[in-house]
Amino acid sequence: MPGATDQTLRPFLWRAERLYPETELVSRGHDGLTRYTYTEYADRVKQLASALRATGVTAGDRVATLCWNHHRHFELYFAVTSMGAQLHTINPLLPTDHISHIIDDAGDRVVFVDPSLLETVTEAVQTTETDTITQFVTMGDASNASSLDPIEEYDSYLDAHDPAFEWPALAESTPAGMCYTSGTTGKPKGVEYTHQMLWSHTMTTQSPQGIPIDDTDVVLPVVPMFHVNAWGMPFSATAGGAKQVFPGPAPEPAELASLIENEAVTIAAGVPTVWLGLQEYMTHTAVDLSALERVVIGGSAAPESMIDWFDGHGVEVLHAWGMTEMAPIGTVSHTKAGLEDANATAKRAKQGLAVPGLEFRVVDDTGEEVPWDGEQFGELWVRGPWVTTEYFANERATADTFEDGWLKTGDVVTVDEDGYLEIVDRIKDVIKSGGEWISSVELENAIMGHDGVEEATVVGVADDRWQERPIAFVVAVASTPHDELTAELEASLKEQFPKWWVPDAFEYIDAVPKTATGKFAKRVLRAEYDSTDAFDASHSEEAIPEE
Ligand code: AMP
Repeated sequence: MPGATDQTLRPFLWRAERLYPETELVSRGHDGLTRYTYTEYADRVKQLASALRATGVTAGDRVATLCWNHHRHFELYFAVTSMGAQLHTINPLLPTDHISHIIDDAGDRVVFVDPSLLETVTEAVQTTETDTITQFVTMGDASNASSLDPIEEYDSYLDAHDPAFEWPALAESTPAGMCYTSGTTGKPKGVEYTHQMLWSHTMTTQSPQGIPIDDTDVVLPVVPMFHVNAWGMPFSATAGGAKQVFPGPAPEPAELASLIENEAVTIAAGVPTVWLGLQEYMTHTAVDLSALERVVIGGSAAPESMIDWFDGHGVEVLHAWGMTEMAPIGTVSHTKAGLEDANATAKRAKQGLAVPGLEFRVVDDTGEEVPWDGEQFGELWVRGPWVTTEYFANERATADTFEDGWLKTGDVVTVDEDGYLEIVDRIKDVIKSGGEWISSVELENAIMGHDGVEEATVVGVADDRWQERPIAFVVAVASTPHDELTAELEASLKEQFPKWWVPDAFEYIDAVPKTATGKFAKRVLRAEYDSTDAFDASHSEEAIPEE
């Protein structure tokens, strides 16, 4: 039968259902923990596929989610993909106009939404230009959702349908997933994941030099399920037959600690901010980490001190680097054979070794590859079976980012003699705060729209808790009082963007330093701000070397 043996996600579900029928899935919600087995999970997944089919969802349709990490979201992961439709996970932390754009661009047919996000979705669909959505489903009570129509509650949506569902044979080129990534300029860009991409991503992460997960593991993805499928963990955990624990909406360190202790979590994954929260919590409250074997840290650089801290608690850190465009894992910082010496932590704090199946090159401004000496840097280009070669319906962005099958990552790296990649800078003009992107360009445009501002730039500076935070450097029109201007800018930015996008500080300078071609020399401002002593408000118009 065509497609029956293609590289698709279906066999991963089949394996968990048949080999691990009694293995548990645990999910934290407002009303406590839900606990069931892979047998019950697989039945609900089929019921959900029946329900979606009854709603009219067919091959190629996109089903959107605005949901946190819970079992219902995970049911969508296999139901939507294995029936031949496409799971489109939307980041609810984005500005509402970005969410509207994303829904329009993807042409979503059905939207699943958590009760706490109903307001966000209601606001977003008010400004969409298209009208493709035929059904909303809320993951809880629908009584606050008057203007979303038609809307059903998830459990009754499922209950009305048959748990018998024949999965179709799918070609591996069938789109299975979709995520949007925030760019330097313009609205977020779509990345599609075919079954083959998600299959090969699962297999490389399951390899010993990836992030292997087996039936002895208990997996806790703290990284949101709207962030590139929680780094693919729910798929690899299912393939490996592991128990899975979903931490629910906005888990606090105390809640994570209790899940880790009570469910005997062996492997957890999240951005550094999450682990910093746990570290702080453990300064005043004892937590039993004895079951925890590994922690995957990615999205931003894992500080060496964090790796040491986990080492001290007997937990191995797997520092990983990746991107939405690559489903997302690219490197994992394993210790290479022969390198288990005193320097091991410094090596592991690098972004690490390419996982099996991925190729990379590091090119300088002239297009030449840089030597692997840990010193010379260039832009990292990658290619591989799970790396996309285009953006969804966006020829311009595709032409800018891809070349001969290579993805130009926008990350500036060095490679050392042992092949470890280290990110030393970023070409893309975005700020990553607590694992989420902030567009400096959008903030700059908004600030420069104020009458009291002559010129402004927004720069990401290092921050202990959030890794990076935005700081605005403003050239004010003479005679404008700075305090007043700051208050007005803060108020106006809060109206236009999520609160956490608003810069932590507004610094007033005489001129924005520029490169020879007139671009803002952000590197100079960032470096000076990071070492406060050197901060000099009197930048002249002198040219700074190109970034
Ligand atoms: P996203 O597409 O949102 O997953 O973001 C991908 C980008 O996040 C990469 O291109 C890097 O700039 C950054 N990133 C991801 N992982 C790491 C890491 N381990 N260390 C430093 N930066 C990272």
